[in-house]
Amino acid sequence: VQGLTGAKVAILGLGRSGLSAARALAAGGAVPICWDDNPAARAAAQAEGFDCADLGKAGVFDDITRLIVSPGIPHLYPAPNPVIVTAQDAGVPVDNDIGLFFQSFATLAWDNFGVVPKIIAITGSNGKSTTSALVHHILKHAGRPTQLAGNIGRGVLDIEPAIDGEVVVLELSSYQTDLARNLTPDVAVFTNLSPDHLDRHAGMGGYFAAKRRLFAEGGPDRAVIGVDEPEGRFLAGQLSEGAADDRVIRVSVDRKLTGLGWQVFARKGFLSEYRGGKQIGSIDLRSITGLPGAHNHQNACAAYAACRTLGFAPKIIEAAFHSFGGLPHRSQTVGEAGGVRFVNDSKATNVDSAVKALAAFRNIRWICGGLEKEGGLGSLSEPLETVRKAYVIGREAAQFAMKLGVEAEVCGTMDVAVARAVEDAEAGDVVLLAPAAASFDQYDSFERRGEDFVAQVQKHLTDT
Ligand code: ADP
Repeated sequence: VQGLTGAKVAILGLGRSGLSAARALAAGGAVPICWDDNPAARAAAQAEGFDCADLGKAGVFDDITRLIVSPGIPHLYPAPNPVIVTAQDAGVPVDNDIGLFFQSFATLAWDNFGVVPKIIAITGSNGKSTTSALVHHILKHAGRPTQLAGNIGRGVLDIEPAIDGEVVVLELSSYQTDLARNLTPDVAVFTNLSPDHLDRHAGMGGYFAAKRRLFAEGGPDRAVIGVDEPEGRFLAGQLSEGAADDRVIRVSVDRKLTGLGWQVFARKGFLSEYRGGKQIGSIDLRSITGLPGAHNHQNACAAYAACRTLGFAPKIIEAAFHSFGGLPHRSQTVGEAGGVRFVNDSKATNVDSAVKALAAFRNIRWICGGLEKEGGLGSLSEPLETVRKAYVIGREAAQFAMKLGVEAEVCGTMDVAVARAVEDAEAGDVVLLAPAAASFDQYDSFERRGEDFVAQVQKHLTDT
């Protein structure tokens, strides 16, 4: 981090991003003062040589120039965070690692010190990780140096110094965009909006406002906006007003867009790009294994549009789509044998995402079950036309099976479920793990559950 040499900077929350902020600040000559309510987290920071101080104590902000808040810390709802309020009362600016990253960048550009890469920032309710990973993949495929960071595993302050022509792809959640003081990407992408994390943003208004900060005054040169919800249409309208006609690309998967603007939409499995009323590109998405289903077609459109703003040709993007393997545990094809395809969507921990996965395939041998989320299985009781049969896992498998609107066999564990699905499967079938439930009754995480599925599938593939 540049521009804070000698300054004392407080850090609240010592998870991955808090620690990475402390290291980056120290590397730039600042003095981090760390705090986390959890003593083990404080011990980890102290072991790295960072000072800790209770940021709740009176007077602590007297000689501190900034407060950096980790994304895991609720800052305003359900109640304003007392440390943040104390800092604000003392006139100390509140920021996060994303804000530091952009600020540091601006300083670099100003000093003409080092290479300044282009930044693509991606936010939205769903599809952020897939869209970010896909943009990153397209850039790599096209031979462009690129790094991927943000909400997707690697902290923004851990990225390597950029090299010439580099593009940094950032996945940003609403928790990250809400607090960052500097958000100045070159290209900003908004995938879609659905109710999510409403508790921490006090309803849809606060949630949308947090995401919208990425597009504020002085924001991106180019914006890619999903317009299938009214909020997206509003944002696109605002950004296009009085702007050059290439500032906004509208993206849709449920409507044919009209007008002369720049637009990318997918209908019936075909992606089309229009500009000035003329069709420029078209891609058949149905044959792209790594991006199954309408929800992934939306991600494909957003990634395509983001790469078009950088000038990549449709043909290059199309070729990259074909080599995209998908993200682990998200509609990921993990094997194929005798005409049967095996798909891991362990990330489908609730009914909505399972329904999306079930709509992406036909002739499904459906492995599901686990800990039911709040709200129960509601919409799953509707007829599921794409499912041939369900194979139910989880401690409550018998009760779970009763609530499904399809033929269901109680299997209990993953090994039995995969074995039974394989026995029943015929050429053309898809064995799909899309649990519609959390994993914690049998696994530590959805990742472990997905890995178990993959291991069982591999066992069967090597046996046959
Ligand atoms: P995020 O990073 O926003 O959580 P991911 O790309 O990790 O999104 O996808 C998580 C899950 O959300 C996927 O398994 C899929 O079920 C669903 N999903 C992905 N993309 C979309 C989309 N564009 N619209 C709706 N749901 C989606």
